Amino acid sequence: MNVAVLSIGDELLGGRIVDTNAAYLSAEVTALGGVTLVRMTVGDDRGDIFEAMRQLAGVADVVLVTGGLGPTPDDLTRFAAADLVDGGELLDDETAMAGVHAWCKRAGVPASEARLMVGKRPPSSSFLSNDCGTAPGIQVVSGGANMFMLPGPPLEMQSMWRRHARPLLEQMVEPRHAPIEVIAAGLTEVQAADMLGDLLDRDRRPRLGIRVGRGVVRVSVEDPIGDLGSDTMTGCAAEVRDRLSPWSLGVGVASLSEAVGEALRRRGWMLATAESCTGGGIGAAVTSQPGSSNWYSGGWVTYTNEMKCRQLGVPSELLCETGPGAVSAEVVVAMAQGACEQSGADIAIAVSGIAGPAGGTEAKPVGTVWIGLVIGDEAEARCIRAPGGRPQIRQTTVDSALQWVRWRCAGINETLPWEVNA
Ligand code: AMP
Ligand code: MG
Repeated sequence: MNVAVLSIGDELLGGRIVDTNAAYLSAEVTALGGVTLVRMTVGDDRGDIFEAMRQLAGVADVVLVTGGLGPTPDDLTRFAAADLVDGGELLDDETAMAGVHAWCKRAGVPASEARLMVGKRPPSSSFLSNDCGTAPGIQVVSGGANMFMLPGPPLEMQSMWRRHARPLLEQMVEPRHAPIEVIAAGLTEVQAADMLGDLLDRDRRPRLGIRVGRGVVRVSVEDPIGDLGSDTMTGCAAEVRDRLSPWSLGVGVASLSEAVGEALRRRGWMLATAESCTGGGIGAAVTSQPGSSNWYSGGWVTYTNEMKCRQLGVPSELLCETGPGAVSAEVVVAMAQGACEQSGADIAIAVSGIAGPAGGTEAKPVGTVWIGLVIGDEAEARCIRAPGGRPQIRQTTVDSALQWVRWRCAGINETLPWEVNA
């Protein structure tokens, strides 16, 4: 089932609002097993809307239109739909008109000509009721395509989609295996592509899609035709995971935080955190997972030297001018040891670094971060030199710390992303 999505509104073209409706509908179509062939946006112009509808009805089985159904003069979707299927004719829909009259009476406002406009539809269309607002949707068939015109406000649109459009699309779609996603943390897109090699060939089935964002590579395993079985799909996902190991998370695991939680839970270990430059970002990531009290004791944000000494027992000699300084192997190990002792946790991770833009030196440029990991008597420190500006350095630090905890739980010994010999 091929779908086209048409978004209508000057505010969309002008960049005043983001087109979340199209993203929502495409995601829903994908989840159903359909394919969004094309998306289009046009302004509040009757001719432009008509032309877009005509074109899209010619290429897709289903056209999903949102916006322009309200009562104001810039709401022109119903007119364009009438131009498309009924030579511009509109009639009063009795049920819809009764609904508008009842609504106006309840609201104590006159049933003006403008308000009654939402009760008009092309004669060969049918109405879709709106349980969150006043403007009904419109359904027509044109050029072999089933067209659903839904309201612009996202909540109204979503409700109408769920109640009227989705059930019909569910019947139209050939059942196919849903895409499977494999996530890898700490790789660039090019590194991931190299490791995946021939699996990325465009004519292979299942077909792989690859995208990056916030330090994570997402590989989707998809069946573009729709007749592959579950074994082939899951087998391919497992192959992707193996090729991207040890960066990849388990098949179906949605984030590094989830993978860390799972790894700690499997070990039966409690984690503590001691953070400087990330300001609690590691703790926030760990506790984003439901049930994290089962593997997270708690943590400290010790930003000043004084806090590092007082809260975590870091020896002040390490922090004075003749010592190695706050961004050093010795200090992050002392922070992690302090966190373990104070919390009674099994494993602690500590970070201290220079997130910039100021504070860098030749020996310790911006992006230099020390990470310490302690389990019982075992203590280790690693240095990374994270690229980018302050937000990226902090995010890379959080991800590296989480990845290291995950690896340590799984007995994996691998160099961290951006790790340097310091
Ligand atoms: P409309 O009925 O088309 O005038 O839309 C009413 C309101 O719904 C707009 O002012 C937007 O705030 C919202 N809206 C319309 N289209 C979209 C869209 N594609 N994505 C997100 N919000 C939208
Ligand atoms: Mg509008």
